[in-house]
Amino acid sequence: MLDITDHKGKKDIKSLTFEELEAELSALGEKPFRAKQVYDWLHVKLVTDFGQMSSLSKELRKKLEDTCSLTALKTVGERISKIDGTRKYLFGLEDGNVIESVWMQYHHGNSVCISSQVGCRMGCRFCASTLDGLERNLRPSEMLDQIYRIQTITGERVSNVVIMGSGEPMDNYDNVIRFIRLLSHERGLHISQRNITLSTCGIVPGIRRLAEEGLQITLALSLHAPNDEVRKTLMPIANSYKLADVLKACHEYFQKTGRRLTFEYSLVRGVNDNLKEAEALASLIADQKGHVNLIPVNPIKERDYVQSGQKAIQDFKNLLEKRGINATVRREMGRDIGGACGQLRKSYMEGEG
Ligand code: SF4
Repeated sequence: MLDITDHKGKKDIKSLTFEELEAELSALGEKPFRAKQVYDWLHVKLVTDFGQMSSLSKELRKKLEDTCSLTALKTVGERISKIDGTRKYLFGLEDGNVIESVWMQYHHGNSVCISSQVGCRMGCRFCASTLDGLERNLRPSEMLDQIYRIQTITGERVSNVVIMGSGEPMDNYDNVIRFIRLLSHERGLHISQRNITLSTCGIVPGIRRLAEEGLQITLALSLHAPNDEVRKTLMPIANSYKLADVLKACHEYFQKTGRRLTFEYSLVRGVNDNLKEAEALASLIADQKGHVNLIPVNPIKERDYVQSGQKAIQDFKNLLEKRGINATVRREMGRDIGGACGQLRKSYMEGEG
């Protein structure tokens, strides 16, 4: 469900589309050009307060303050990796919840990984974000502001966004789609949709719906196993959707959008990393247009999963390539600053942050 009011029931101005903002200002008796100005303050100049909108009259700023709320995340924690400069941020929301975002520098630009929910209810066994279940969905403004705050703090333009932090984006569908449209809007940060990746654990109706949105984003599927049997031990969602159906929906996504897919595969020692499994994976996705991203799993203290050894990872990759599947091993970023996604938030909430 689309959520454009804050927790006190006020209209959340940063979650409004340009057209909705025009209507809002016209209802306040303002001329259409005001919408351009306000949109620019919110989504280009990235202000955190109505008082900073200096091209507006005091009267209008007051009217906006009375009728709307302006979401601005508070930085409650920052950790910078000494190894690769990756930064992890903990942001406080107005209701006291805390979320995690990550900023990474690559040769092709700066990338931000955002959270789409507070917590997650999908229960993937290797993930720290789900240990306390789902707290609530994030509004479009709360997803946007993770990027806006990071761009302001670092002083560097963000060129790539991955929706791969805490939360299952398909479980917060309407707000995530609104977020993507605002993020790529020509009057806002205007991040190319081709540089936005949505990662899902494989919710079939969500993938089908996404294919119809007319977006040019990349779809990443968290696959993590070459068959339903192993997948069920890692991801409870595999009990609801069979791999064959998930992959069929992925193929339809490619056919509708022309966008090649990414298959995420976390390698867990002794669980899904032997060569028989690599063979099975190669056959499973032989007809798909996409590539495999192999992820050495991040150990989390609440589970006893262990990362595959370097040789096992390399052998797995080589076998995929021999079978004609394009595969890369994801570089581990920020290994020294909080490990897996959701871990930093968890330790903060438990008072260790
Ligand atoms: S991996 Fe993603 S979908 Fe699975 S529990 Fe973690 S946040 Fe949720």
